[in-house]
This record gives sequence, structure tokens and C-alpha cells, in this order.
Amino acid sequence: MSGKVYSEWEIAPRERLRKLQEKKMLKIVEYAYERSPFYKKKFDEAGIKPGDITSLEDFYKKIPYTSKNELVKSQRNNPPYGDFLTVPKEKIRLLFISPGPIFEPYTGEDIKIIRKNLAKTMYTAGATEKDICQVTLSYHFMPAGLFIHWAAEEAGCTVIPAGTGESRMQVDFMKKAGTTIYAGTPTFLKRLGEEAVKMNINPKKDLKLRIGLCGAEPLPMPLRKDLEETFGIELFDAYGVAELGVMSRECEYHNGMHLNEELFLVEMIDPKTLEKVAPGEEGEIVATTLEREAMPLIRYRTGDASAMTEETCVCGRTEARILGIRGRVDMLTKVKGVFIHPKQAQEVVEKFPELGRLQIIVERPEDYDQMIIYVECKESSKFAEWENKLKTEFKQALRIKTDVKMVNPGEIPVDARILEDRRKHYTL
Ligand SMILES: [Zn+2]
Repeated sequence: MSGKVYSEWEIAPRERLRKLQEKKMLKIVEYAYERSPFYKKKFDEAGIKPGDITSLEDFYKKIPYTSKNELVKSQRNNPPYGDFLTVPKEKIRLLFISPGPIFEPYTGEDIKIIRKNLAKTMYTAGATEKDICQVTLSYHFMPAGLFIHWAAEEAGCTVIPAGTGESRMQVDFMKKAGTTIYAGTPTFLKRLGEEAVKMNINPKKDLKLRIGLCGAEPLPMPLRKDLEETFGIELFDAYGVAELGVMSRECEYHNGMHLNEELFLVEMIDPKTLEKVAPGEEGEIVATTLEREAMPLIRYRTGDASAMTEETCVCGRTEARILGIRGRVDMLTKVKGVFIHPKQAQEVVEKFPELGRLQIIVERPEDYDQMIIYVECKESSKFAEWENKLKTEFKQALRIKTDVKMVNPGEIPVDARILEDRRKHYTL
């Protein structure tokens, strides 16, 4: 293992970890019920008292979900904290404000716990006290910049609080300071690479970068390879949600992101049925903050789609891993048990200049889901040929069999949604 194990819980047997999570969950459920008017009302309406919850099984079966919408609405009606606050206001030491707006308060104790846990993000990527970390994430209102700053500080790195923008200055200081760790979005790193070339700086030879910690944006494979080649660095993906915190990070095997299960109880649910999905199956990430003094969130629906595995990683860590962020669940629809990503269908069509716009229509005429993809095509004499070709292409991209119908350019209405789900019984 190249990245240092910082906490015993990274490599603890899962049964022990489960017990720890259960203990913390029981405490936070009781705490939230007693102190947060929102959770008192929510549990009362569901007919639940904290005493009814004695195990994780009870928790999964009985505790209702919390949506982002509920948090935003409550804070809008009663700013800044809504009915979520669990401490007197004078105990709050830090307040982030994320788009929504969502107000995220932290007590001194919260800050201590988070700082300590954030160190894992750095250590797992292999950071040491010899590293110089340049943080190019935003420090304005939102938590990303400060969180990664703390992570690097806790791991003993030298931290440069660069913030966003100023690419020329970033590259110049990177060179002069001998920055070894980049922390920021992948697209900004790409821009820095281009800026460096303009400044006659060879990003690979003249800069000392060795680790890139990416977050706040997807990190698709072609971009990752491109950046690793340009800078001669190894990139590590991380995933967090502003109102929850940094929940997971990659190890050197890059096979999913390890969850910080000491701090978060993470579940993967079907966003339509709200049932737990099987391991490895795609679903929506739901998380409970296991230690949060100022504003605990319980079974909070992130809206992000991923899959989860509890298999021990090659690196030896026993933490569950989420396997990439696959978009927002409200953009997805499940057909025959598989999530459909309209973007993937779009990518297939964009490969061929002969093709135009597309529309995916999902119906359930009898008992079975039926999906038809309509695609505009200039070559009306070759419709049958295209239909066959695209059936194969879509099957590879979407992982299920689909019907394809070619139409003339202009036949798909301009304002048509790319994916239209006409199955009435789905209400989400
Ligand atoms: Zn690992």
C-alpha cells in the first residue's frame, strides 16, 4: 500500500465497522429527534420514536429519507438554518453557504472531527509532510477549498491557499514554490497545462507535480489520461456533497472511491421504489452524518447516481467503495432494471454526421417496459440499414436491447425532451 492507513477503521473487519456505525447511528437519531424541530416532526409524522430504533435493520426499515428540497425549503422559510439546527446559535464557529442556498453550520467540535477525518483523503493518495499542496478550489462561501486545505494541513503538507482563477499566476507560483500536489477540478488543471505551454514551461519537466487531487467535477477516463500524461502525475478522484462533506476518495488502485464510513453511513437506493439496491447495482447515494453536532442529516438523498461494493479493495482497505459518479438520478430512468443515461445515447448519435437529433421514449403498453429511440437521419433510403447499425451501437452503450426508428430531419419536435418516460405508475 503506498498511501498510509491513517485510521484503524480503514482496515477494520466489516462486522466491527457495522457495530460502530450502528452505535453512532442510534446516538445521532436520538440526538436529532430531541434537538431538531425538523426531525422531531418528521419522525412523529412517521409514527416513530427513537426508542423504536434499536438496530441498523430498524433504521433502514423505519427512518424516512430527507430530501435536499426539504432542507432548502425549511431554510428559506426560516433563515438561515431552518428547523434543522441542533445547537444554540452561539456554538456555531463556521458557516458555509452553498447554492440553493443551503446554510451549513459547524461547531468547534464538528470542525475538529472533520479535520481529522479529512486527512485520510490526502494520506490515501500518498501525500506526506514533504509535499507542497496548491489548493485551487473555491474558498468563497462554499466548503470545497477549505475542506481540502484542512486535509492537506492535517497530513502535514505545506499548503498554498491559491483559490480559483489566475491561471498564469498559479503556474508561475507552482514552478517557483515547487508544488507537488494539485488540488482542484480536472478542467482547471487542463487549463493550467495550456497556460504553462504558453509561458514556455514544460508541465512535465519544469513542474514538480506528482499527485493531483480532483473533485467537484466528473473525471472521465480520456481527460484523466490526458492530464496524467501532460503533467506526469497520478490523479485521485474524490467525492463529496457540500451539505454532507467529503465522503470518499480513491486509493492507488483507482477502482472506485473508498467511503469514510466512520463519519458517514452510506446506502444505495432505487430512486423510484426507494428500496435498497443489490451490491454493484446502480442507485442513488443516500448518506447519514454519523457525527455532526450542529446540523445532522439523516438518510439524506444526494441525487447522485453510483453503485457500491463492500468487497475488500486490493489495497487492503475494507471500507465500502462507490464506483464512480454516474450523473444525477433525476436525469436517469430505469428500464428493465437498468438505468438509462440519455447522454450515452447522445454520444452514439454524435459519432455519425448523417444523424441528427434523437428522442428516447419509454412506455409500458402491457406488462413490459418498451423503449424506442427515434433518430433523425438525412439518408431516408438507408433507414433499415441505420436501424440495424444503431441497435448494436445502443446495446453496447446502454447495456440493454432497444428498438430504433429512423425519422426525417425535423420530425422530432424542437422542444422535445431527450428522454420521455410515459409509464404512468412511476411518480418520482
Ligand atoms: Zn483501495
